[in-house]
Amino acid sequence: MTTQSTESYDTILVNDVEDFIFCPRKLYLTRVLGAAHPEPARVARGKKVHVARGRWLARTGVKEFFLVSERLGVSGVVDGLKETEDRVEIYDVKDLTGRSLLDSQMVQCALYGMLAEERFNKPVQVYVRVRGRDIRVHLDDEVRKKVVDAVEGAREILSGGLVPSLPATRGKCYRCPLRNAC
Ligand code: SF4
Repeated sequence: MTTQSTESYDTILVNDVEDFIFCPRKLYLTRVLGAAHPEPARVARGKKVHVARGRWLARTGVKEFFLVSERLGVSGVVDGLKETEDRVEIYDVKDLTGRSLLDSQMVQCALYGMLAEERFNKPVQVYVRVRGRDIRVHLDDEVRKKVVDAVEGAREILSGGLVPSLPATRGKCYRCPLRNAC
């Protein structure tokens, strides 16, 4: 591990928020202390998804898109975005092993949706594309609050204002790439 980061975190990344929801300590270890992020299995799976995503984007004409929100102070590149006259559709391509989204994945996708609302000022529909089928993520009040709370929490950790302690239950640790460094 390296010394504590001195970066400015006026704008944080969508992936920071996803990591925060998965486990605040994961965000702290990787982005504040600089712990390596060894995820060989995930990287290998990610390459396959990347190839499939490239084929799908080429076929449909949906494009990757950089989104940034001044209001939330968050930026990120969404896998696919399509604008029509009356709405915007965004797609996040994932390789899920389970049947449903993790909370961290759902909040990540909702966050992309909120960034797109601010950018386009139109209704936004959010989909997670999993092996050829689309799961809709609804931007309801509960999800929006989770997003805002997570953005605030992630920013607090990245600015060094909070050192997360170990969670009371360690259920997520078995699939965490940092379990040996934590
Ligand atoms: S090993 Fe567990 S507590 Fe540590 S970062 Fe991973 S999920 Fe969090």
